[in-house]
Amino acid sequence: MKASKYLLPTARENPQDAVIASHRLMLRAGLFRKSGSGLYHILPMGLRVIRKIENIVREEMNNAGALEFSLPILTPSELWKQSGRWDTMGKEMFRIQDRHEAWLTLGPTHEESFTDLMKGILKSYRDLPVNVYQIHPKFRDEIRPRFGVIRSREFSMKDAYSFDMDQEGLEITYQTMRQAYRKIFARTGLVTIPVEADTGAMGGTGSEEFMVPSDIGEETLLISEKGKYRGNQEKTPVVYSDAVTREAPAKANSTKMKLKKVHTPNCATIADLEHFLKIPAQHILKTMLYLADGRPVAVCLRADRNLNEVKLKNNLHATEVTPASAEEILAAGSVAGYIGPEGLDESIPIFWDESINTGREWVIGANEKDHHYLGYIAQVHKTVDLALAVGGDPSPAGDGILQEVKGIEVGHIFKLGYKYTKAFEMTVLDENGKPHMPIMGCYGIGVTRTMAAVIEQEHDTEGIVWPISVAPFEIVLVSITKSEEEDGRVGEFYKAMTDIGLEVFWDDRDLRPGVKFTDAELIGFPIRITMGKKYFEAGDVEVQIRRGKKNLVLKGNSFEILDQIVNIRKELFADLNSRMEQNEQPS
Ligand code: ATP
Ligand code: MG
Repeated sequence: MKASKYLLPTARENPQDAVIASHRLMLRAGLFRKSGSGLYHILPMGLRVIRKIENIVREEMNNAGALEFSLPILTPSELWKQSGRWDTMGKEMFRIQDRHEAWLTLGPTHEESFTDLMKGILKSYRDLPVNVYQIHPKFRDEIRPRFGVIRSREFSMKDAYSFDMDQEGLEITYQTMRQAYRKIFARTGLVTIPVEADTGAMGGTGSEEFMVPSDIGEETLLISEKGKYRGNQEKTPVVYSDAVTREAPAKANSTKMKLKKVHTPNCATIADLEHFLKIPAQHILKTMLYLADGRPVAVCLRADRNLNEVKLKNNLHATEVTPASAEEILAAGSVAGYIGPEGLDESIPIFWDESINTGREWVIGANEKDHHYLGYIAQVHKTVDLALAVGGDPSPAGDGILQEVKGIEVGHIFKLGYKYTKAFEMTVLDENGKPHMPIMGCYGIGVTRTMAAVIEQEHDTEGIVWPISVAPFEIVLVSITKSEEEDGRVGEFYKAMTDIGLEVFWDDRDLRPGVKFTDAELIGFPIRITMGKKYFEAGDVEVQIRRGKKNLVLKGNSFEILDQIVNIRKELFADLNSRMEQNEQPS
């Protein structure tokens, strides 16, 4: 491909609203252009990267025995009503009406569509196991689209759905997908860590997310010292290190409680209260009021811990939990900043976190502005784990303490169970000719987000440093010529390269060499070949490897030089492989 026939809308300046490297660089390198909030046009150079990632995904999915489909993006609301998700998906789901006023959605995911489709196709146990997938645009009306294509509203996803006869079969399919995912990400040059993920209130028996460690990651991972525990913070159970929390819980009525009301002016925050009373947060009971699908619930936990809303949601089997507003707190018979379990509207259920498993006396809110009680003893029969695990907590696997790492989620594998086969009453005939309900798994990879994660991981101050496997072109040929004759000589060499199958982008533009070099570095082609004065005078071809900026001079006749270029390309793939092996985490 010649640059003179291509479009290279590169930019020197950083776009204003792009705060992270991948967002900045994909715009500056002319890969993507913004179209609207969370919407991006993909330009030719960017599309080549996306296609390469898609092809890696496709090859490994096919190698794992999965079958590629393509389903409509627009999905009828009836499907979503059948699964119950029409009501539970929330505002992320784009809902639209057609000319007949029928409701449809732009698919945020395709469990319903695939289950419905496969119900009509799969007849017998002989058809199973089967894993079906597509590589497809998805739509989600994200509340806060940001970071370019890391969180956009339209994005490309590979979504796969497996159908097995039983749990044992699902286990095998799940492990096959897990291995395929490791290969896919390794081939894109990404370091990924699989971590345990939340499976939600709907159940499901297991789930892992593939995370790329990155300071700009929106997810917090907790990883233990010896690596035995790797989990998403949302999912991680809290293990308490301090012996105090493991004191025997105060038995109901075993202790006479003497509450003492104290005046605590302007102590609506834990920090203010700690300071005013000179009592540490570990002795303060924090009470919070939430609305779980509109119904008020109270949560009590030790004030030095934070609530994990995902755990609360799962415990309540709720679709949505939101903190109550000041008005809703007043309606519950309390006041914001001073909520407490004593004297709160009795119809409100209280959930007790495990951190209050102790016989100690607590400071609690008095449900009255500027007042707290001292001497509260929690007489609780049941506590649940509702707190957010943090770095420094003991590992749930018992191997030392947990460390916090930020990560970008690029993929997700999930044992779905029977949720959708049940909802769609899908059965196949078993060996005895009896109807049998298959069990499902689902497996997603964000293709566009993967591209952004690669840039995030592989860039320097000059631009992107593409791993050779996903580079828009493997080689950029920069020609510095002064005559038509010289152009002709470069043209011959370019043709010789493309004839043997090398993927070359020839920057033949009539521009200063410096401009061409700057663009080549910004776009990040892995191999740069320069043909200029040294070539025309002595036959020397200069090469620079983008990663590490290593310079080489190739000598010899054109066959010998071509041979050396082929070898450099091979070495870059080999280097990617060896980096992959080094990065391989224990599974
Ligand atoms: P997140 O927690 O980041 O919103 P999710 O849990 O909603 O992700 P899944 O439903 O598991 O994501 O979707 C599968 C994959 O699709 C994710 O692992 C991610 O790579 C990608 N993805 C999800 N939402 C977006 C988005 N808004 N923009 C780009 N990629 C996305
Ligand atoms: Mg999401």
